[in-house]
Amino acid sequence: MTRLLLIGPPGAGKGTQAVRLAELYAIPAISTGDIFRSNVKNETELGTKAKAYMDAGDNVPDSLTNALIRDRLEDADCREGFLLDGYPRTQDQVRELDEFLAGHGFALDAVVELVADPDVVVDRLRLRAAEQGRSDDDEAVVRHRLEVYRVQTEPLIDVYAGRGMLVEIDAIGPIDDVTERITTALAERGISAPDSATR
Ligand code: AMP
Repeated sequence: MTRLLLIGPPGAGKGTQAVRLAELYAIPAISTGDIFRSNVKNETELGTKAKAYMDAGDNVPDSLTNALIRDRLEDADCREGFLLDGYPRTQDQVRELDEFLAGHGFALDAVVELVADPDVVVDRLRLRAAEQGRSDDDEAVVRHRLEVYRVQTEPLIDVYAGRGMLVEIDAIGPIDDVTERITTALAERGISAPDSATR
């Protein structure tokens, strides 16, 4: 039973690492960005509401995001643990998550911060824009997303550091190396993958 948060600037590789960690720790990876994108694609009511914020590189309002995550975390597959990728992003979302956890008698095991230099992430996102054509990877929007991260999300790192939960990971380097750094740092805190003894 592992409950993790993955936090870091856009382009730090959260999505990539989330998929790998979910597999290793046998928990669902929940990406609010992915959920929003699929709602936009399917033109749902939520997608219609979220699209303008996403295209501008702004956070979707907390009321929408919190409702979405509350629903998702109630799903049966989250009972045994989860990894949140890209949530919480604001102080209000931290409060929402705290309430959810307290209400269920759950606790987070760790908050993994992917640390990456802003210039490096801008370069990475430029590459992703060319490869995937994500509408919010346009350079001006990327700069704005980094600023939104700095103002709204970075302060949360201190909140979790203050709770003794923060695990800082250098996110620059080959994908495998970053995964290895994360699993090693988590193991040092007594958090290990379910079948790691047999690996
Ligand atoms: P991401 O894939 O995590 O970079 O998210 C893409 C976009 O989805 C963000 O720029 C926001 O517009 C929106 N989004 C994702 N997660 C959140 C969140 N926790 N709170 C508010 N907006 C979010």
